[in-house]
Amino acid sequence: MRPIPRKGVVPLFLFCQVKKGYDPFFGVVGRRSGPTRTSDHLPLVAVAIGSNLGDRESHMAFARSRLRAMLGSIRASSFYETTPEGVEGEQPAFLNAAVIGETQLSARDLLDALLAIEADRGRERPFARAPRTLDLDLVLFGDQIIDEPGLTVPHPRFRERRFVLEPLAEIAPDLRDPASHKSIAELLDELTRSTPDHEALRR
Ligand code: AMP
Repeated sequence: MRPIPRKGVVPLFLFCQVKKGYDPFFGVVGRRSGPTRTSDHLPLVAVAIGSNLGDRESHMAFARSRLRAMLGSIRASSFYETTPEGVEGEQPAFLNAAVIGETQLSARDLLDALLAIEADRGRERPFARAPRTLDLDLVLFGDQIIDEPGLTVPHPRFRERRFVLEPLAEIAPDLRDPASHKSIAELLDELTRSTPDHEALRR
C-alpha cells in the first residue's frame, strides 16, 4: 500500500488555520484582524509618555529613543504641552506624547521595561500623583484585556485623558480599544463632545 503523502500537507493546513486566527489545538487564539495586531501577528502596543519635572524635553526624548530600541515599526507622536489634571497641588505643565509599536515581550515584561526606563530618569514617587521626571503608561497591548495585581490593560483611565487620546489619535486613529471596541478617533470624539469647554493641547 502506498503511504499517503502527508509531508507538507499538515504544516500548510496549520499555517492556514493559524493565519485565520484559529489554532486547531487551542481553538480561537484571538482576533487576528484589525489594527491591534501586525502582519507578523505581534501585538501592537500603545504607550503614553509624560513629564513635568526637570528637563522635560530631554526626559521625553530619552523615553522615545529607548522605546525605539525596544519596539518594532515604532510611530511616535509630537510632544504636546498640557495643563496638569488630577494631580496634587500646583504643578508645572506636562509634556505628553504617545508611541505605538510591535513587541515580542509579554505585557508584564513590557511594563517592567517601562518602569526601568522611568527609574533611569530618576522617577520618584514621594506621594500619589506627584510631579514626575518621566511617566510611562501601557495603554494598549494588542487586543489583550488584563486585570492582574500591578497590571491593568487597557489602562483604566486612558479613555478620559485627552493628553493620551490626542497624541495617540495623531499616529493611530484607527487603533481599537478591545474593551469598548471603539477606535481612538471615536473615543477622542466622544471625549470632546462630553467636555466642550476643554483646554486645547499645544504642540
Ligand atoms: P504611576 O505611579 O501612576 O506611574 O503607576 C505605576 C504603577 O501602576 C506601577 O507600579 C504599575 O504596576 C501600575 N500599573 C498598572 N497598570 C498599569 C499600566 N497599564 N501602565 C502603567 N502602570 C500600570
